[in-house]
Amino acid sequence: MLDSYSREISYMRISVTDRCNLKCKYCITDDTHFIPHEKVISNSTIVEVVKVAVKMGFRKFRLTGGEPLIRDDIISLISEISTIDGVEDFGLTTNGILLKDKAFALKDAGLGRINIHLDTLSKVRFYNITCGGAIEQVFEGIETAQRAGFVNLKLNCVDSEWNTQKDIDEVHQFASERGLKPRFIRQMSLADGEFWPVDGGKGGKCGSCNRIRISCDGKIYPCLFSEQSYDIRELGIEEAMLAAILEKPESGTVASRNFNTLGG
Ligand code: SAM
Repeated sequence: MLDSYSREISYMRISVTDRCNLKCKYCITDDTHFIPHEKVISNSTIVEVVKVAVKMGFRKFRLTGGEPLIRDDIISLISEISTIDGVEDFGLTTNGILLKDKAFALKDAGLGRINIHLDTLSKVRFYNITCGGAIEQVFEGIETAQRAGFVNLKLNCVDSEWNTQKDIDEVHQFASERGLKPRFIRQMSLADGEFWPVDGGKGGKCGSCNRIRISCDGKIYPCLFSEQSYDIRELGIEEAMLAAILEKPESGTVASRNFNTLGG
């Protein structure tokens, strides 16, 4: 479906939780507010949203968060979405910590693609950036995902004040040795409206943006860098989606939330 600036909106990012098992310094801060559990939308609501989206011409879907793999019912959600007619491109973005345990089940459930977040190869720097994460788990997760048959794995590397050019070069090298596709994302600030095109990806280019997003409390956001949202519980799924598409701003400005709400 076309928005008011003739952009074909066909890609939906679905945040299935705003909670995470890591606490990356540029993403979750001490004053981050989390959505109460009782407000988080159920699998059946998410599936309904995808079905409505497909009817509106959406073909591409990505689960994100927070960390999507910490959601208990994530595998059954993926099984349900992957069998919906019209879902052509179905991916998930993860920090990789739980991939070792879940990669084979994700493949069996019909997930198409995985993007894994990795900012450094340094055990110490990873621990510092993520406030306590163990990098070995991510390496094992990547290896397991490859064994499970995921191809074209992408690595999301955030170029932030907490890593260095050496880290970025090493992630590049790591990716090319393993047939992974690296994407470099400059640290952004929602509050200050600082956003940049993603090196190796399509994000950050307003003129060709084809996305809308849904938060785990059921609000449709037409733009990551905007306060606008349309609540599916108040408006109904179809009305909320239509409003989000038709009111999608020409370009982003600012937003007072953290990246864990909508998943970058
Ligand atoms: N837990 C998953 C992960 O770590 O990738 C998915 C959620 S995380 C919020 C999604 C992506 O947001 C991350 O891969 C990271 O690239 C991006 N991100 C988070 N904070 C960011 C920031 N301040 N600037 C740029 N990208 C950011």
